[in-house]
Amino acid sequence: MNELARLIARRIAMTGPMTVADYMATALTHPEHGYYTSRDPLGRDGDFITAPEISQVFGELIGIWCVTVWQQMGSPKHFNLVELGPGRGTLMADALRAASQAPAFVDAAEVVLIETSPVLRASQAERLSAFDPVWCDSLDTVPDGPVLAIANEFLDALPAHQLVRTGAGWRERLVGRDENGLRFMLSAGETPTAALVAPEIRNDTRTGAIAEVQPMALRVAAALAERIAQDGGAALIVDYGHAESAAGETLQAVRDHEPHDVLDAPGEADLTVHVDFAALTRAAADKATIRGPVTQGAFLRRMGIALRAESLIKGATAEQAESIASGVERLIGPDQMGSLFKVLCLSGHGTPQPPGFED
Ligand code: SAH
Repeated sequence: MNELARLIARRIAMTGPMTVADYMATALTHPEHGYYTSRDPLGRDGDFITAPEISQVFGELIGIWCVTVWQQMGSPKHFNLVELGPGRGTLMADALRAASQAPAFVDAAEVVLIETSPVLRASQAERLSAFDPVWCDSLDTVPDGPVLAIANEFLDALPAHQLVRTGAGWRERLVGRDENGLRFMLSAGETPTAALVAPEIRNDTRTGAIAEVQPMALRVAAALAERIAQDGGAALIVDYGHAESAAGETLQAVRDHEPHDVLDAPGEADLTVHVDFAALTRAAADKATIRGPVTQGAFLRRMGIALRAESLIKGATAEQAESIASGVERLIGPDQMGSLFKVLCLSGHGTPQPPGFED
């Protein structure tokens, strides 16, 4: 057992088994040993790689998306360009570089980063120093004014509860301990989380069916919608997940680009779930107009990824051209990130259709 597993086991001994969501939150964001607290997990030398780290085109097209939506908003003189979970700041840097074709947009933007990791905050500070970003712990403290918010592979890292269908109804999966270490078990009775199981899944009576719910992700979607309704703006959410709520276990640990045991070495592997876009839509729909989810492949094609790649390739060496083309294929290829990844947009009721979501 590593140090964090020992701390978790001690806590279980004192206060009883914890929910999977609690375990996930502790493993990822424990103030000392949490996965995101203690390291930069991104890139080839890290544990996983994300779209902005694969190709600059990803952030550039999102920058162009932001400029277009800002113009649709009437080009406000001041707004918050918010990123949730900005990683190394790569997406934001690429977006702002592409957006510099519209200098008034860059001048109007207050760059606001919502980030838990001190290690990644330091990378963001370095990468984005020219834009004087500010950091916030949550959406609640984002300065007044309209918001354009971006979240790429952020929601998948927020804590998820798991429920298991038994003959007696839904029971919550918990993390307990025995003499060998941490292990999964089931709650004795129904827990309050059962009320959050998506309606399409709730009546699934197959024994062993698994439901996952992410109350924190639903709160983020609702808070974004509320903020947009109040101050104007839009949010673009990109993540892997499913368009319809469905039973199934997606919680996974990844270390060094390989699957890892979820309960082994907490804080040393990334933990994520697939995002339930239908649940996000339900959480946000009364306050915001929801577009999508569309697949990442369709979104990037509509945003002009082919043209952008072509123009980059024109000025490139043969080797660079090869890497640009393979990066783009990775982003949009249906057997790569093109189909599993989805894009969802929240914007104000009655606002124009943002680019990338045309029929
Ligand atoms: N968007 C980046 C990074 C994705 S990794 C990219 O695409 O490369 C997930 C990001 O969310 C990291 O920056 C991580 O530190 C941050 N994060 C995870 N949980 C968080 C939380 N609860 N609050 C704020 N940031 C969080």
